[in-house]
Amino acid sequence: MNALNLIILGPQGSGKTTQAELLAKKLGFALFGAGDLLREIAQEDTELGRAVHHTINLEGRLVQPELISQIIKEKVEALPKDRGLILDGYPRTLTQYELFKKFWPETGRGDYRVVFIELSDEEALKRLIRRVTCEKCGAIYIEGTMEKCRKCGGRLVRRPDDTPEAIQRRLQSFYSETMPMIRAMDAEGKVLRTDGAASIDEVNRNILAKLN
Ligand code: AMP
Repeated sequence: MNALNLIILGPQGSGKTTQAELLAKKLGFALFGAGDLLREIAQEDTELGRAVHHTINLEGRLVQPELISQIIKEKVEALPKDRGLILDGYPRTLTQYELFKKFWPETGRGDYRVVFIELSDEEALKRLIRRVTCEKCGAIYIEGTMEKCRKCGGRLVRRPDDTPEAIQRRLQSFYSETMPMIRAMDAEGKVLRTDGAASIDEVNRNILAKLN
């Protein structure tokens, strides 16, 4: 039987990365986060690194669809086919989805399903304004709840792209660019929806129940 392939989607602040990590741990799946992969590249002292840093950290915009698609394709191809896979934050636009659908059959990994974590704008904004991340490992916390990172002891800082203006821009980009893609996936019968306003454990249980 083919290993399960999941795409996790939701507005920023919906907890998609938290859920992706929990599912990967529980199910033993590999996890590729588009934002994490790009943040790694943004730290490189290369032309590409500087360009990615400028786009994601200073402008708060999406990188070129061809670039993120190539990065994800290489990661997926390097993964053993019998290992389950979770994609967090990719594909994110209709153009990316078209590129994804072009390379996906070449990976020989069988069908994929989409988990869509829904959350209102107000709730997403409230959460993002209070979000801090670990400087070293990128773990996410709510400001004031933790002195330093529970996983690695790293310093907790605000992400440079979590300013109110950049958050608004990313939420707008979700509605104008990602929602049309989710509607297309929905029309193909690929989407499982779950309410992101529930507790972390509850959302996780709901996703697992729907997957079964
Ligand atoms: P995230 O950690 O998902 O909030 O992503 C952080 C930043 O990385 C985003 O604001 C974008 O600038 C960039 N990014 C993440 N995923 C994608 C993607 N699928 N396509 C293009 N850019 C992305």
